[in-house]
Amino acid sequence: AKELGRKRFAVFDEALAKGMVDVLAMESELRKALRQNEFEPYFQPICRLGDGKVVGYEALIRWNHPQRGLLRPSDFVKIAEDSGLIEAIDWRLFELSCRLLTQQAPSELFITFNVSALHLRHADFDVRILKMLERTGLAPSRLVTEVTEGALLDNPESVRAVLERLRSVGVGAALDDFGTGYSSLSYLHSLPLRMLKIDRAFVQELDKAGSSNSTTVVAAILALAHALNIQVIAEGIETQAQRDALVSMGCEMAQGYLLGSPAPMAHWMAGQKT
Ligand code: C2E
Ligand code: CA
Ligand code: CA
Ligand code: CA
Repeated sequence: AKELGRKRFAVFDEALAKGMVDVLAMESELRKALRQNEFEPYFQPICRLGDGKVVGYEALIRWNHPQRGLLRPSDFVKIAEDSGLIEAIDWRLFELSCRLLTQQAPSELFITFNVSALHLRHADFDVRILKMLERTGLAPSRLVTEVTEGALLDNPESVRAVLERLRSVGVGAALDDFGTGYSSLSYLHSLPLRMLKIDRAFVQELDKAGSSNSTTVVAAILALAHALNIQVIAEGIETQAQRDALVSMGCEMAQGYLLGSPAPMAHWMAGQKT
């Protein structure tokens, strides 16, 4: 039995070592990708539910990997975060996204992008955002940062201060993935939020049999948000029935495969004059 125990240990160590080698290899690949501009923003339309008109886009990162093809965030964002590389990668992506919006999209459209916890630890995050807006020529009112409740746990006070300063110059904030994770209602009134995004877990339940619980939850989120003057975006809508349910509940905006999947800006602007 002792022999077996030692052997199992050795197997475990090997797996661990392999994992570490993989992570290190991935880190150096990420660095190279940054140098060679292999990251690209894809844009998913955010639509007004009433008439389906596109009102903005969420920028979602993709990695055009020379060997492995187009990679999604689940393939690399975790390692990019753990190694701290996500900051440099994100700034590159933010800048590209703002530039594309300024140059190609009609001027009434806004853009949102995902701001991870690491960024919000910098007290000068707002200053960097403003410099970037100046460089790219994007009007501050056309930008909405998406933050998750998890990112607020660290230091809610300093995050609130950063978002407050951004709001004072016109940049909006959206609370992402609402209803999952920590969901402290206190964030809703203590943060300067322009928007709230209802997580797709609730939206996808809406057209299922026995969906009355999620209907109640979504209706309650909408009532609360509207009482606080916060606009609501429903995430991940895939069916007409989900859309109908959301329209009847008075949800103003939505995003999901039913309305459009993430794609390069050129795809959305093809044939469009700005
Ligand atoms: P998220 O912010 O919640 O983004 C929504 C995700 O849902 C996206 O996945 C989007 O492609 C997907 N989605 C959109 N509509 C539908 C639908 O109708 N059905 C289903 N099943 N899924 C839908 P994606 O692009 O793979 O991004 C995953 C996550 O990675 C994002 O979740 C966000 O947390 C993170 N992420 C994306 N881009 C960035 C970035 O530039 N920087 C950082 N730090 N994180 C990012
Ligand atoms: Ca998001
Ligand atoms: Ca989300
Ligand atoms: Ca998410």
